[in-house]
Amino acid sequence: ATPTALMVGVARAAQLGILVKGPEALEATRAVDTVVLDKTGTVTTGRMEVTRTRSFADVDEQAVLRWAGGVEAASEHPIGVAIAAACADVPAVTGFEALVGAGARGEVEGALVVVGSAELMARWDIAVPSTAAGWLSGLGPATGVLVARGGEVVGGIALRDTVRPSARGAIARLHSLGLRTVLLTGDHEAVARAVAAEIGVGDVIANVRPADKVAAVERLRAQGRHVAMVGDGINDGPALAAADLGMAIAHGSDIAAQAADVILVRDDLDAVADAVLLAGRTLATIR
Ligand code: ADP
Ligand code: MG
Repeated sequence: ATPTALMVGVARAAQLGILVKGPEALEATRAVDTVVLDKTGTVTTGRMEVTRTRSFADVDEQAVLRWAGGVEAASEHPIGVAIAAACADVPAVTGFEALVGAGARGEVEGALVVVGSAELMARWDIAVPSTAAGWLSGLGPATGVLVARGGEVVGGIALRDTVRPSARGAIARLHSLGLRTVLLTGDHEAVARAVAAEIGVGDVIANVRPADKVAAVERLRAQGRHVAMVGDGINDGPALAAADLGMAIAHGSDIAAQAADVILVRDDLDAVADAVLLAGRTLATIR
């Protein structure tokens, strides 16, 4: 392999909005046979919107949204950003903590407020009433989170996310290149299945916490697959690092960019297939 040809490949990738961190990343790209895609912010735009707020206790919906908004104002997760944006006047938070891949918490208006998945509530010994569990499972493809205050679930917030318009075509291109695709998400199975069906992704691994995303990638590698992990990185850094090739969508956090071998500046899923094609061509010409 001549260094010049490799550098030309890296430069051409850059023109396509694909930042390849050196020639080794180009080699790894060519070897990929399985593309694992994070859902929120990767397959979807990650620009979420609150569609509904529910109360499950003796409080009004405005209070539910206000408490949640107070916590989420400090969050950089798409769910958090959307909830804070939906909240008209955001109260102050102290002791904010992002519970990666699960939710967030902090002290708002004199009580501890926890916002996140039903699993998160269980982890903090907060009982999830059957009304709340039923509401969550009835949401269909929409994402829902619960809001607890002072150790009691007081409400729920439903959010809409949008699948990237280019996603279906991008997945079809990957399949036509002979690659297998897997949707990997911390969201519920029902949401994941609905999204996978919409874009034509073959396999779904849902309900996974960030640490389990790493395990899922490692399991595929143990099966002899050459895995590219595509993530936006709010919590995908470790999974990107665990893959043979980590690809970060540009709007993601710095953590993901650091862990990634390839950065998709174009913020477009089509860039994944472009990268694989380009790596194949570049390396074919120099052998
Ligand atoms: P994905 O794997 O689709 O990118 P994440 O791993 O980021 O999703 O999040 C998984 C789940 O954790 C979300 O569906 C949501 O229930 C919960 N969650 C994560 N971050 C937050 C947050 N800031 N506020 C509320 N819920 C959150
Ligand atoms: Mg994500």
